[in-house]
Amino acid sequence: MVSTTSLKTSKSEEIFAAAQKLMPGGVNSPVRAFKSVGGEPIVFDRVKGAYIWDVDGNQYIDYVGTWGPAICGHAHPEVIAALQEALAKGTSFGAPCALENVLAEMVIDAVPSVEMVRFVNSGTEACMAVIRLMRAFTKRDKIIKFAGCYHGHADMLLVQAGSGVATLGLPDSPGVPQSATANTLTAPYNDLEAVKAIFEANPDSIAGAILEPVVGNSGFIPPQPGFLEGLRELTQKYGALLVLDEVMTGFRIAYGGAQEKFGVTPDLTTLGKVIGGGLPVGAYGGRQDIMSMVAPAGPMYQAGTLSGNPLAMTAGIETLKLLKKAGTYEQLDRITKKLSAGLLQIAKETGHESCGGQISAMFGMFFTAGPVHNYEDAKKSDAAKFSRFHRGMLEHGIYLAPSQFEAGFTSLAHTDEDIEKTLAAARAVMSGI
Ligand SMILES: *Cc1c(COP(=O)(O)O)cnc(C)c1O
Repeated sequence: MVSTTSLKTSKSEEIFAAAQKLMPGGVNSPVRAFKSVGGEPIVFDRVKGAYIWDVDGNQYIDYVGTWGPAICGHAHPEVIAALQEALAKGTSFGAPCALENVLAEMVIDAVPSVEMVRFVNSGTEACMAVIRLMRAFTKRDKIIKFAGCYHGHADMLLVQAGSGVATLGLPDSPGVPQSATANTLTAPYNDLEAVKAIFEANPDSIAGAILEPVVGNSGFIPPQPGFLEGLRELTQKYGALLVLDEVMTGFRIAYGGAQEKFGVTPDLTTLGKVIGGGLPVGAYGGRQDIMSMVAPAGPMYQAGTLSGNPLAMTAGIETLKLLKKAGTYEQLDRITKKLSAGLLQIAKETGHESCGGQISAMFGMFFTAGPVHNYEDAKKSDAAKFSRFHRGMLEHGIYLAPSQFEAGFTSLAHTDEDIEKTLAAARAVMSGI
């Protein structure tokens, strides 16, 4: 464990110690526990704009943004004001509410492939449902996923990352029956030939392929030119569906998501994170003929007690309204480019092999010369060095995702001054690791 001497975190440590007796690993989602970087997690007290304050009173510039939703900055006054108004009318109806139409219209207008949408409560739920829908629509059972892509924790999607072109997926977690993943085929990201081989071996049994159009869950890995286009062609050729999991990239890479940015239109799309504006929301949507299979319009069952609740819809609506204003994505791109280019330059000047990049408000850096095109490449990154970097940045008041296999996120609240402070911290830290 790296020393935490310069950062006073006694209250965080006390609370986390108590949490470990109450919840598995002391957290309600694993990566929060700092396992991969060592040291103790920071317990937050409040968030605002680009900043976090922990329970010991330390302030940090935040590049996690609650894992994506905080793209307008934490606790944006317009989002909070709208939520307070909505709150006074009640938190959940379990019946239709007009706000569902508003957010649905906004999503349909924004995301090129989406003609109809169903709201759920998380990205996991959206991905789980979309797999069922792919299978229901095509009447085929097999799906293709890519090593290092994360689509939530549903059984059939928890297949060993990095297992390459497997005919039988191996479950990633105990408790996932082999039968649940037997129809999950995996390919390396950015490897069209591997996908082609899978289709040739299973020409009539693949329902479709699901992927992150820009990977954020094994670090930041953009698609190589032609990869998304090639997948679109291959899926079409074999009568299979293409699903872009835009839970992370939706409304972050561009207002219309990665599919707008790259001009590749999938059959179905999953969304989450940003569209909930910090409240629990997920969604899946796509072609009307496919979405019409979802109950009660069609026979594919999927439901949710709290789905489409007015609070969640309100946070989503207000967040999208802010994002739709002119110049937002130019601002996000500019600020993130400054950060990303600065980090790479500093790594070079301080003698560290590194590679990385950004698109819009999503960025990443690996401690390896690269290039990183897939999960296997990402694993060559120096994890021990990343841990030292992470701890050093934390001590300088910079909060990065506690894993090198996570993308970083900026927001409209990050200022030039924040980026300059971050780069100054990075220079100090990289000089000493
Ligand atoms: C976060 C994420 C999910 C899962 O979403 P949850 O809301 O955490 O369940 C699914 N897919 C991608 C691409 C994600 O980044």
